[in-house]
Amino acid sequence: MEISDVQCFPLRTDLSRSIGFSQSYYTSKNNCLVKVTCSDGTVGWGECYGPNLAITAAIENHFKPLIIGKNPLQNEYLWNHMWRAFLDFNRQGIFMAAISGLDIAFWDIKGKALQAPIRTLLGGSNDPIACYATGMYFRNDKSEAQMLEELLDEAASYVSSGYTFLKVKIGKNLDFDRELLSQFRCRFPSTKLAADSNHAYNFKEAMSIARLLETLDYIWFEEPLAPDNYADMARLRESTSVAIAAGECEQTRFGFERLARAGSLDIFQPDIAYCGGLTEFQKIAAIASSAHIDVVPHCWGLKLNLAVAASAISMLPENPGRLERRPIFLEMDQTEHSVRDSIFLDSHTVVDGALQFNDLTGLGVTVDESALNKFTLHIDSSINEECFKLET
Ligand SMILES: [Mg+2]
Repeated sequence: MEISDVQCFPLRTDLSRSIGFSQSYYTSKNNCLVKVTCSDGTVGWGECYGPNLAITAAIENHFKPLIIGKNPLQNEYLWNHMWRAFLDFNRQGIFMAAISGLDIAFWDIKGKALQAPIRTLLGGSNDPIACYATGMYFRNDKSEAQMLEELLDEAASYVSSGYTFLKVKIGKNLDFDRELLSQFRCRFPSTKLAADSNHAYNFKEAMSIARLLETLDYIWFEEPLAPDNYADMARLRESTSVAIAAGECEQTRFGFERLARAGSLDIFQPDIAYCGGLTEFQKIAAIASSAHIDVVPHCWGLKLNLAVAASAISMLPENPGRLERRPIFLEMDQTEHSVRDSIFLDSHTVVDGALQFNDLTGLGVTVDESALNKFTLHIDSSINEECFKLET
């Protein structure tokens, strides 16, 4: 078996209304799929997290010529081949997002070739994966008071559909953030809650929010500080009982090892479509395990990334584990996404806030290629457009 073609699909869909987090408002969703075709007709799909046109250019111009003719079952060999070939540029950023999607596609091919789901190849279980609902994004067409009421109602809809764990966005401004955190705990006294600032605070601000999260019994404080501020994250972690989580901006075993060594985090959140793919994720998970750090993959994309994150969770070790298991929750984006909801013929299903695996081989996800065309950007006509249409 050898790779005969590699094709990228940079996808975009406009949102019916903008949604925001601490850094910007989105008016569109952008994703990047990669299709790897083999000489025997086997096809594997991967997903890359990040600016889709730039990743497409990296794959088409640099990685595709490198892997045509290679055996996709040799994922470790291929990862190292791609890593070494562009080592000067692979260590952080777009190139590693490109490797991530290709690696996921190699795993999909391996599963199909060996007639097994990815989780079986990883040695994971078939048990349902408990999910947490990510949503409650800011709106720029409402007053803060109106917005907060709507965010609480949005959250109530997730709870009524079976979710027992919600993650809210903070980092707008400190007064609003405190009000939001308090009102969410008041409205949902027995629901698990986490808060994500998307690196919005300085150390003193983060400390004051951490104190509030402690009193309100939130489970984790996500990206409280700038991703490179390892030292202050470690200081914050030592000063609070709330778990400190981050890692969606981090890549490779080397990046996560630096975080582990600095004592910065209680929870690693690698995005498998960005950190280096499933091959590299296993090494990151080993670093986490040896440092007694939890792993909760970041997952904010399409159903391919969701499938690979769920498969990864199925094999993660407990830290340290006990008779009454503490579940590792899968991130389930609840925001509007017409690409995610219309381009897949098969995928794993979510029932009562838990993902149930199907029995398909590989990632267990089938892409409807006929549905891709209307969302696919063409690099020549789009090169002058922003990859992420942001309102700032
Ligand atoms: Mg986050």
